[in-house]
Amino acid sequence: MCSSDLSEQNTDNQSPKKFSDLGLSDSILGVLDSIGYETPSPIQEQCITHLLKGEDIIGQAQTGTGKTAAFALPLLDNIDLNLNAPQLLILAPTRELAIQVSEAVQTYARGMKGFHVLPIYGGQSYDIQLRPLKRGVHCVVGTPGRVMDHIKKGTLKLENLKSFVLDEADEMLKMGFIDDIKWVMERIPEQRQIALFSATMPTVIKRVAEEFLNKPKIVKVKTKTETATNIEQKYCLVGGLSQKLDALTRILEVIDFDAMIIFARTKTLTVELAEKLAARGFTAEAINGDIQQSQREKIIGKFKKGGIDILVATDVAARGLDVPRISHVVNYDIPQDAETYVHRIGRTGRAGRSGEAILFVSHRERRMLNNIERVTRQKITPIELPTAKIINEKRVNDFKKKITETISNQDLSVFEKLVGEFQEANEEVTHIKIAAALAHIAQGNEPLFLSEKEPSFGRDQKPGEEKIVPVQPNSLKNHPDIPMRRYRLEVGNSNNIKPGNILGAIANEADMESAYIGSIQIFDKFSTVDLPDEMPKETFEVLKKTIVNGNRLNIVELTDKNNKATVGGAQGGKRNFGRKKFSKDSRGGPRGGSRDGGRGRGRGGEGRDDRGNRKPKFSRSKPKK
Ligand code: ADP
Ligand code: MG
Repeated sequence: MCSSDLSEQNTDNQSPKKFSDLGLSDSILGVLDSIGYETPSPIQEQCITHLLKGEDIIGQAQTGTGKTAAFALPLLDNIDLNLNAPQLLILAPTRELAIQVSEAVQTYARGMKGFHVLPIYGGQSYDIQLRPLKRGVHCVVGTPGRVMDHIKKGTLKLENLKSFVLDEADEMLKMGFIDDIKWVMERIPEQRQIALFSATMPTVIKRVAEEFLNKPKIVKVKTKTETATNIEQKYCLVGGLSQKLDALTRILEVIDFDAMIIFARTKTLTVELAEKLAARGFTAEAINGDIQQSQREKIIGKFKKGGIDILVATDVAARGLDVPRISHVVNYDIPQDAETYVHRIGRTGRAGRSGEAILFVSHRERRMLNNIERVTRQKITPIELPTAKIINEKRVNDFKKKITETISNQDLSVFEKLVGEFQEANEEVTHIKIAAALAHIAQGNEPLFLSEKEPSFGRDQKPGEEKIVPVQPNSLKNHPDIPMRRYRLEVGNSNNIKPGNILGAIANEADMESAYIGSIQIFDKFSTVDLPDEMPKETFEVLKKTIVNGNRLNIVELTDKNNKATVGGAQGGKRNFGRKKFSKDSRGGPRGGSRDGGRGRGRGGEGRDDRGNRKPKFSRSKPKK
């Protein structure tokens, strides 16, 4: 047994059947033996039995349950190799899937001498497809549109067709293929066998089944194991866009992964993210519907072989992808629904390996998280992001490991000679100094370590000093006429909060452009932020519940009463906080100019109090009590 999700399902049966009990031919059994399939998965067991009897079937099962073999094995056994014409037609939703299924069919048919299978799909020239079609193929796997074209042109003849398979029917429906599918199904011979597979059963699919299938047997795999148990599922609470990228980079640094697929919501995002990861030294590529299909194929090929380690994909582009080396799935953007989640994480834990799925969740998305847990009936474990300290420890270990590896694996003679010469000429320089200098060169300008320093206190305050924040807000640099109000947030230095966290959370959760987010000051136990006076009530409600670093913001208007803060003091005066994190690549657009906090540097001297805070200018901005 290769795949433990398959075996998991088998435990429901008292005695799992063997492939040899099902009535498959010796040539097929020989292949299964050689590729290491030991026992049939539940869907295989049932489908094979029915299909060998000549019955129609509807198979309902999640991805990764072994559907391809479930229909391919028995239907291949039905093929007459002496008849040089298409006898088995399989429709698949995408080019990638058509190719994948065609490859699987090719493998399963290894023992059938003279057997030919051909994938046909849009985007490839007709010529390439015409030649083998003319020469004669026994099985065609195609996408609906192109199959239709070939039937219309008369280049794909269906009169000898014995069986027909609709793979991933619901997906084809989603992609708008339903009319094409019906068109094809109306043209297959009366005497034929049909197998329809779908993860879900929308009404339209049911109707197709009723119309075209002949007393189908329904084979359903229990939902209990909808998500494979060999996939460890985790989630991580993250704030804004740039926090996600930061979170991802940290995770990538500490986990050991073989290959990873990252799901992003949009095509543009896949490209942006792949570029950012590439800039950080990972071999990453994007795949999405906009990328030319031949190019997509190349990328997937490279990914399979290990030339690429990270694939950033949209749902459609990664649909059904079967790449055993995928050890990790990252849901960078939360999926639209639980079903998509199941499909996504099913890209890992293939063929008996174990896999890990990590889901990024913002506060607003927690409901979807609950929904996913409910539908999959599995708990998803929360994880903390690795701290700078952990990352630094890892970097030290990696650094040492690299030295050991280089010493044992590389020919260093040239450098040994050079370093020797250098040492002779500079006797006073120790070996360690030389090695350190070389390490420095190798490291380049990037510092080896992340900063582990806790945020320091504002320079103008001493720890322990009691501090009262002006209740009056600063105005925005770019919109000085917008009345502002100062708010208190129940997170501060003691929660390890940095202005960037607050900025990110507000920008992301309240969908507020950062140009409208004013001064942020961090104290030990709380923080303040200046926001437009006319902020909608809903936004305020969202912010109340927003969580940053695991703590609720509990935003309230800052008043003199709730304003005392001891220790720590404002951080807002430091200019460099969070700057880098929230530079262009996070949201674009103008940055809130007043995030230099209370200091108001470079904004002229007048109208400010002794800390440089601008004195209130708008009567409207006076806090209501
Ligand atoms: P689905 O179409 O249901 O998503 P696939 O047909 O792509 O699933 O199969 C998923 C993976 O499981 C493939 O890598 C396949 O080779 C493997 N597999 C299928 N059947 C078996 C089996 N009986 N034993 C071991 N591995 C299997
Ligand atoms: Mg499949």
